[in-house]
Amino acid sequence: MALVETVRGPVDVDTLGTTLMHEHVFVLHEEIRQNYPATWDETDRVDDAIAKLNALAVRGCQTLVDPTVIGLGRDINRIRRVAAGVPLNIIVATGLYTYEKVPHYFEYRVSRDGSTDPMAELFVGDIRDGIAGTGVKAAFLKCAIDEPGLTPGVERVLRAVCRAHAETGAPITVHTHPASGTGRDVLRILREERADLTKVVLGHSGDSTDLDYLLELADAGCLLGMDRFGIDVITPFEKRVATVASLCSRGYAESMVLSHDASCYIDWFPPEVIPMFAPRWHFEHLFDDVLPALRELGVTDAQLTTMLEVNPRRYFSG
Ligand SMILES: [Zn+2]
Repeated sequence: MALVETVRGPVDVDTLGTTLMHEHVFVLHEEIRQNYPATWDETDRVDDAIAKLNALAVRGCQTLVDPTVIGLGRDINRIRRVAAGVPLNIIVATGLYTYEKVPHYFEYRVSRDGSTDPMAELFVGDIRDGIAGTGVKAAFLKCAIDEPGLTPGVERVLRAVCRAHAETGAPITVHTHPASGTGRDVLRILREERADLTKVVLGHSGDSTDLDYLLELADAGCLLGMDRFGIDVITPFEKRVATVASLCSRGYAESMVLSHDASCYIDWFPPEVIPMFAPRWHFEHLFDDVLPALRELGVTDAQLTTMLEVNPRRYFSG
């Protein structure tokens, strides 16, 4: 039996069921939240998250994969309080989210004499021993590369993630920026580091409608994160579903996972503007709109099960 770590402890991967592979419970700037507490009510926000995730569970989702790491406001104790009130499995990550530099903390904490990057050691500790003394273990690694491309900071984090992957076998999710083709940069480093490409989600690939780009990454063995349904301002709904359907018709259901990259609460935007620019950016959009539209375009129930259950299970199977 293969086990995967969740916030409430290890579970059999065969019980993960319908899995959203890239959603956030909270995305916060922790230092701003602490210093300007008027913007935050802990009890209200935790209760709101519990309500939203219970509503998602009612729709049939059984597992939520949360790639919130350092740089996005990870607070594992807060996630534990939410997890205690929802029937979902919540799987959490370790890693670092930056588009350019590493945080100053890591600038002078560097690998000496070819020894392990101290950053990678922290990631390994989160996977093996648990996060911040809670015993909650990260089950995957997360990093990012965006429009600035493979900056020295981004490359250092990506290589540290690969080293932690090599040491622990934990799978990897990378936030990519397909408009600048950064999936290819990631692939190059992953190959140099001899990462297991079948254990990698190239997140936000679904922002792209360029089939040549997507097929190149899928043929390398990676999973494509078609994981921003609802962010129609980047790529409209119709194009997102058409791209998934067309990859399915070419036999690539085994290369995709589906999600929204939505949050119970994100402080990047004033809350009232999100419904204005992205009215369908929420956890239920997949069930309300995306799955029916995919079926309409000829995607079979078996292919949907592959993307929502089989591929996540394979990704988290040791
Ligand atoms: Zn995300």
